[in-house]
Amino acid sequence: MKALTFNYNIPKYLLTGALSRRWPQVISSSWALTGVREVPEPELPGSQWVKIKPKLTGLCGSDLSIMRCKESLTLQPFASFPFIFGHEVCGEIAEMGEAVEGFEVGERVTVMPSLGCVPRGIKPLCPMCVQGRNQLCYNFTEGSLAPGMFVGSNADVAGFISEMGVAHQSMLCKVPEGVSDENVALTEPFATTLHMVAANAIEPGETVLVFGCGAMGLCTIAGLKALHPEVRILAVEPDPFHSGVAHEMGADEVIPPGGKKFYRRIAELTGAKMYTPLGTKPILIGGVDRVFDAVGTTDTIEASLRILDNGGSFNLLGIGAPKGLDWTPVWLKELTLRGIYGAQQEEAHGGRRHTFDLALRLYAEGKVDIGHMVTHRFRLDDWREALEAASAKGKSKAIKVAFTP
Ligand SMILES: [Zn+2]
Ligand SMILES: [Zn+2]
Repeated sequence: MKALTFNYNIPKYLLTGALSRRWPQVISSSWALTGVREVPEPELPGSQWVKIKPKLTGLCGSDLSIMRCKESLTLQPFASFPFIFGHEVCGEIAEMGEAVEGFEVGERVTVMPSLGCVPRGIKPLCPMCVQGRNQLCYNFTEGSLAPGMFVGSNADVAGFISEMGVAHQSMLCKVPEGVSDENVALTEPFATTLHMVAANAIEPGETVLVFGCGAMGLCTIAGLKALHPEVRILAVEPDPFHSGVAHEMGADEVIPPGGKKFYRRIAELTGAKMYTPLGTKPILIGGVDRVFDAVGTTDTIEASLRILDNGGSFNLLGIGAPKGLDWTPVWLKELTLRGIYGAQQEEAHGGRRHTFDLALRLYAEGKVDIGHMVTHRFRLDDWREALEAASAKGKSKAIKVAFTP
């Protein structure tokens, strides 16, 4: 079968990482680590596993960062190679192991991609998996599977940018009828942003700011509108097309980043005092209550810390590998910093539930429809065009690039 694979080797990784800024096409060049290759169809890793035929699979920003060889080397122990990309899937069960219960061949599903204790056959479960926080499992390098935190970074678990992937039955989510394939394929990124929103004790009347209006930033806006319609949402985005979409999805104001003008506008909108120190960027006293940073670069983190209200919360979702930050605002304003990764069981929307279930429920109730965010679709053979559209989002007007096998 065909699959988009990543064949790690250290010299190529370092070289690609060094070249990818000046030569973006290096990630799909003929010697790149990434490529659509012919591989054997996956075997079921155990009797509680199913094969899933993907209908629509999203390409994630984290996939691109791996392809560009820009992902932090810190993560290397928590992956195994070669692997098949793809963890944002709408697919159909094609085959089931003999111990699978409660599902049928042909059923439409999406997949919670974390490979925690249960899919690894580890008993007793670690304290994180007991709490339904499988994305923080202690055992990502243990048990019956190769190291790897999620489907799409694990040599033993075929990902879904392919003609066939696999999942443990505990990772499957049934999909309510009437929910579009596009919404289903966006469940993983949307559920992650719902986890971020739910992890914050947001009060009515707050002003929250979303950094970046790519797929994750826009999902965050959709989640805020669904769970906290009473908050004021500011968004920061340089690209006019993505700014327009953020507006349509409910951002009260979309501000371009950069310069004193940016800080002045936030100060005006929040009634904060702006100070302009010599030789560095402005800082606000007062400001936005929370930042949801879906970019995570030096610039976005630095600006976030400077525009947050005293006692405010910064949430890091983006994986932009920042360097050389001035952390002064963190102690000066007693900010809270929180990292966000994946989805989990949560107190949200009047009950304790997994944010995957919450996402599917919000779709089914008609409260959220983000299917329009799937702007580009490609066949596996056209993977080079797909990577190009996803890499040059301003030019291509891409929000979520997806594959149909
Ligand atoms: Zn993702
Ligand atoms: Zn665990």
